[in-house]
Amino acid sequence: MSANSLPEGAATWHSLEVNKALNLLDSNADQGLTPKEVEQRLQKYGPNELEESAGRNAWQILLDQFTNIMLLMLIAVAFISGFLDFMSWRAGELKPGEVPFKDTIAILAIVILNGILGYIQESRAEKALAALKQLASPLVRVIRNGRVVEVAAKELVPGDVMLLEAGVQIAADGRIIEASNLQVRESALTGEAEAVNKQATLVLPEETDLGDRINLVFQGTEVVQGRAKVLVSNTGMRTELGKIAAMLQAVDSEPTPLQQRMTQLGNVLVTGSLILVAIVVVGGVIQARGFSNIRELLEVSLSMAVAVVPEGLPAVITVTLALGTQRMVRRNALIRKLPAVETLGSVTTICSDKTGTLTQNKMVVQSVYTDSRSVRVTGEGYAPTGDFQLNNQKIPVESHPDILALLVACAVCNDSVLQKQNGEWAILGDPTEGALLTLAAKAGIEKDQLNSKLPRVAEFPFSSERKRMSVICRVEQVATGEQSLTAVDPVIANLVQSQAYLMFTKGSPEIILSRCTQIYLGDHPTPLTEEQRQKVLAENDQMASKGLRVLGFAYKPLSEVPPEGSDETYEQELVWLGLVGMLDAPRPEVRAAVQECREAGIRPVMITGDHQLTARAIATDLGIAQAGDRVLTGQELQRMSDQELEQNVDLVSIYARVAPEHKLRIVQALQRRGRFVAMTGDGVNDAPAIKQADIGIAMGITGTDVSKEASDMVLLDDNFATIVAATKEGRVVYTNIRRFIKYILGSNIGEVLTIASAPLIGLGGVPLTPLQILWMNLVTDGLPALALAVEPPEPDVMKRPPFSPRESIFARGLGSYMIRIGIIFAIITISLMAWAYNHTHAAGYQGDRDAWKTMVFTTLCIAQMGHAIAIRSNNQLTIEMNPFSNLFVLGAVVVTTILQLMLVYVPPLREFFGTHYLNLQELAICIGFSALMFVWVELEKLFLRFAGKKAV
Ligand code: ATP
Repeated sequence: MSANSLPEGAATWHSLEVNKALNLLDSNADQGLTPKEVEQRLQKYGPNELEESAGRNAWQILLDQFTNIMLLMLIAVAFISGFLDFMSWRAGELKPGEVPFKDTIAILAIVILNGILGYIQESRAEKALAALKQLASPLVRVIRNGRVVEVAAKELVPGDVMLLEAGVQIAADGRIIEASNLQVRESALTGEAEAVNKQATLVLPEETDLGDRINLVFQGTEVVQGRAKVLVSNTGMRTELGKIAAMLQAVDSEPTPLQQRMTQLGNVLVTGSLILVAIVVVGGVIQARGFSNIRELLEVSLSMAVAVVPEGLPAVITVTLALGTQRMVRRNALIRKLPAVETLGSVTTICSDKTGTLTQNKMVVQSVYTDSRSVRVTGEGYAPTGDFQLNNQKIPVESHPDILALLVACAVCNDSVLQKQNGEWAILGDPTEGALLTLAAKAGIEKDQLNSKLPRVAEFPFSSERKRMSVICRVEQVATGEQSLTAVDPVIANLVQSQAYLMFTKGSPEIILSRCTQIYLGDHPTPLTEEQRQKVLAENDQMASKGLRVLGFAYKPLSEVPPEGSDETYEQELVWLGLVGMLDAPRPEVRAAVQECREAGIRPVMITGDHQLTARAIATDLGIAQAGDRVLTGQELQRMSDQELEQNVDLVSIYARVAPEHKLRIVQALQRRGRFVAMTGDGVNDAPAIKQADIGIAMGITGTDVSKEASDMVLLDDNFATIVAATKEGRVVYTNIRRFIKYILGSNIGEVLTIASAPLIGLGGVPLTPLQILWMNLVTDGLPALALAVEPPEPDVMKRPPFSPRESIFARGLGSYMIRIGIIFAIITISLMAWAYNHTHAAGYQGDRDAWKTMVFTTLCIAQMGHAIAIRSNNQLTIEMNPFSNLFVLGAVVVTTILQLMLVYVPPLREFFGTHYLNLQELAICIGFSALMFVWVELEKLFLRFAGKKAV
């Protein structure tokens, strides 16, 4: 769709008056568009989507698969093997019926298959990531048909009227219709980090630069503060961002830590196998005193090269990660960046917000404090039913103008809506404010009714930095004296005195109180004495130490409407009204989650904007704060240098009254101490800390788009317990990956050593062909490995310390286990091989003289079945485990054994795979030797148990 399809004059929205713009787009600021108009415009302009800039194309993704060093080695093997076959064919050495180039074809098929698998996985991973992004993608609030509704960003059309507030990522370009204190960060577009003040009323010259078009907003930029109503002018590729979309990065495709570890593994394996090949060739040449057996040595080398590459591993890893991501979503943790699945298991410190994450975010006001009296408020939830009680006696609020004035402030200085939904009282908006509406309604004071008496004309919005907000209302229609209809009217008249406007302010009590010079006790404001001030602060502490969230209220009569940005001037010399304390109960499941964290060596830390005493009460209740732990306030933190903070950061478990910028310093200090930090956040200013954290976590329900965009993981239920659950899943995923790597590579080492030993101990011929090795690595190792990937968590998975994210894949005994088991595996098979060779070459042997090779092949396969069963646990013996707790392993073992026997006993398969018939006795001997592998792994566990060590 070209820009021409927009109405004439639409190229320069900034030089149009709002009404002109609305007319051009045939829209209405109050009604928005009708569903029919939206439908037509969607047809006409298409969805509001950016076309992804071309990253790698399909061919490049496919080609990239073949740059893997292990696959390159396999390709070389295929060609050398093809050359040898060609020589045999020319020399007429092929046996009748033998398929030439079988190994070459099989290896190349595996290489291509691996390439295609890798390709499918990568494209699917990209698609899955895109789908995850979609899930977390923002909804936009728009006015359609006169009602406020939320629609997906891609459904926006030119002419829509969208509503913006702090934290929103703007989804389309638009002309501002109304704005209040609107500040937008446009760094995505202009590179300018500083937020820009935006205004609706201006009409700018046509030639104004993009960065100066302050009556427009642009897609991809972020609302830092304030509110606005915006007419959508351009969507999709016609937005300013769309125009430069081709310059944007495609989906991030940095290798994940696991991919890096796999590359490291590939290099070690390939180097190791080349060294072994060299040893075998040199050893073979020396033994034969010449190059007579060079062809056999070459065949041995080729087999070894095939044996060392774990062909099935990439597929198993991808499946494991995909399953891990799915399991996490089922537990309400949405992974936005894939590496998080692997690295979650490494988290050592979880820094969590309090409100909503550790607590339920369902506020109920419990007490009100005015004029030195603490009044208890009864009632539950958001239902506006309950009493005001003084010394356990119900009091008539109508006759207490000080309380009435406070309740008016609660209802007016408020952006939430209290309403009945499906018969239940519920709130739209911030629960803190919802509780205040409920409180006021308990005294019959309703926001809707006050709106006509006190229409809002301006505001200084709330932010976590300011910790307060103010609204300015014009005072209308208040009747006093005998004409007054309600008890509220005389109170309002009393507050406004002879002025035209009233400002109501609420926020953190210390901040509000410090800006007050007078106090309202029900009559006229009187100067606030030091004694009164101390009393209020003492009451504030009293309420906070009970775990209540406390807000302070004040007001000020004004003669004019303050201009935008003049908060510092106007929010001074206020008249104090009182305190309101509300309970936000801890989430019941969090206590157990905190306990689980501690056992798992993870330290939970509370970071909150709330009062230190409130924070401490809740943290103590939840077990986050322990004896000796420190509370640090934002002010103290502000005074500390980075070094001082770093020295203290391990001792502090509660940060109170902090601003979002402090969060960044806390993460950095923890990281400098070597901690692996998960950090939650919801506000627009939390984004830097979320980005800096090793695992940045955004809130799915209360989080802003900006915080979600910066995060690695989104909590769909905003719950701390979900972080712990996801961490556990991360550990399970990583443990299972390590488990099947041990399983697969132990076997590869065993195979390589067995093949290498055949010529060295003077046996004639190569025991295993490349085709048989591929079969083992893909099928007989691959299936059980896949089954091990879904192994349920071991009971102690959250009882051991976190993994270091920087550790090598061979750390914590994995490397030594692989080598040890590889050697044991080789000793078992080489012993069998020696016995079998002598047996089939003994005088009077009736059967196939090459049957020893198939005995080696069969033993290698069946021994791995025992290994798969035993390796399910590092510490528990197999008889101590529930054999049915992972049916996949049982199934894989049965299926694989049957398949292996088919290769020996079904003639066409025997022919194709070049195996030999085994009689019952030979088969029994293979099974007997194979069982030794199982026995060994079990004995290792017993040994560790008696030695008092635990394998990890
Ligand atoms: P957390 O960071 O754990 O979510 P919080 O919700 O208390 O804690 P903020 O939302 O940043 O953090 O609030 C900080 C302080 O600002 C609160 O303790 C309260 O005193 C004040 N406050 C919160 N909400 C409002 C509001 N809607 N209007 C005025 N002041 C508020």
